[in-house]
Amino acid sequence: MRLWNAAISTRPAQIVRCGTNEQVSEAVRNARREERPVSVLGGGHDWAGRAVREGGVVIDLSPMNRVAVSGDVALAGGGATSLDVMEASVTAGQTVVAGSVGSVGMAGLALGGGYGPQLGSAGLASDMIVGADVVLADGSLVVADAEHEPDLFWALRGGGGNFGVVTELRLRLRPFATALAGSILFPWSQAEDVLNAWAQTAPSVPDELSVHVGGVGLPDGTRVIAANPTWVGEAAEGAAWVRRIEGWGVPLVSQVARLPLTEPLRATEQMFAADGRGWYLRNRNLPGLTPDIVGALVEAFSAAPSGHEAFGLHHFHGQATRVAPEATAFGERRPHLMLELIAAWRDEDPAPHRQWAAEAWSALEPLALPGGYPNILAADDTAQIAAAWGPNTQRLRQVKQAYDPEDSFAGIPLP
Ligand SMILES: Cc1cc2nc3c(=O)[nH]c(=O)nc-3n(C[C@H](O)[C@H](O)[C@H](O)COP(=O)(O)OP(=O)(O)OC[C@H]3O[C@@H](n4cnc5c(N)ncnc54)[C@H](O)[C@@H]3O)c2cc1C
Repeated sequence: MRLWNAAISTRPAQIVRCGTNEQVSEAVRNARREERPVSVLGGGHDWAGRAVREGGVVIDLSPMNRVAVSGDVALAGGGATSLDVMEASVTAGQTVVAGSVGSVGMAGLALGGGYGPQLGSAGLASDMIVGADVVLADGSLVVADAEHEPDLFWALRGGGGNFGVVTELRLRLRPFATALAGSILFPWSQAEDVLNAWAQTAPSVPDELSVHVGGVGLPDGTRVIAANPTWVGEAAEGAAWVRRIEGWGVPLVSQVARLPLTEPLRATEQMFAADGRGWYLRNRNLPGLTPDIVGALVEAFSAAPSGHEAFGLHHFHGQATRVAPEATAFGERRPHLMLELIAAWRDEDPAPHRQWAAEAWSALEPLALPGGYPNILAADDTAQIAAAWGPNTQRLRQVKQAYDPEDSFAGIPLP
């Protein structure tokens, strides 16, 4: 078993590789009998290492990675990665709503929300969940969808893995197999111009366009500011948007083409590979990019201790904002930019890297929305956790009490 974050040192007592619902039920029942904490391992990409609990039983779903497509719905095993589901969808001439990196578990991503390049045109990955098979804390298997266990179905769309083991997730697909997507890289010296141009553009972009903007280090350590557009619409209009984004600065390289969305999922894989690096993440939801915020981001990333550090801004707009806040458990439906501050190191002392992310995160606090993205919040982010589910907090607590009163499943931290 390998976790993405090499800095996690938690040691479980047992790892149970499960290939069927029955094996999952048995593993849950055995852990309960032995009074051991349970955790669920999907794609292993939770930076905080929640797939493992000290002395606990890991329910490893990696054998359950089969994906089938039935009509416009993908039936994804609980251990399928985002790339597994995208590959099966594209083969069927359709596209799943996923995040930015292929090896991230589809269930882990979608249960906690799932920001990605189709936020404007489709919404969150969790908005596409139409049903799930779930093994509960007593080992029983239930179906959760609009007709069965409606409270559980509501909570699974944004409440994370806090209610049971999802052995199959059913996701509505979109009726196209390619989109205009890729990456435009500008030198870091143009970061302020690029971010200011994005600040002016973001409020008026159409639903068809989502642009992920961020600072990253290239393999040789050179820092760049990247704008990654995904356009799901009419070709000429999309090409005009790409030219406009290229005009935010003088690009070093611009590679945007019509392609299946498996390609960007593979491309980001290398940059964020599980290759022995330690990682530490902080998150803020920003109401927009004011000059103060742009200044803080440029100052912070210019001072990053190594070329491994990164930051990313997911643009929450369009369809994602049109879902009623109480319709699913996901708590923040206002337009915003979800900022990830990503510190990384190899063999060196992690302290300066962690400190860098923590300081940038603190500097942005007065400028940010309360709350944050639950999939990235750590257990000690109590103020952000308290606000993360907004008007849904009370119902989420009630569903937790109804389905997992003994708190067997500790996914992303609930208020
Ligand atoms: C490189 C990288 C890129 C990322 N990109 C994005 C992105 O673009 N958009 C975005 O929104 N997020 C992104 N994330 C965050 C990611 O969505 C979460 O960390 C998510 O929890 C990872 O899921 P996993 O299955 O890979 O992780 P794991 O560590 O295997 O699981 C984490 C937790 O998720 C829950 N879980 C996972 N699978 C199941 C299941 N089948 N049933 C019940 N509970 C389950 C459990 O509580 C588990 O402990 C990224 C993370 C990384 C490291």
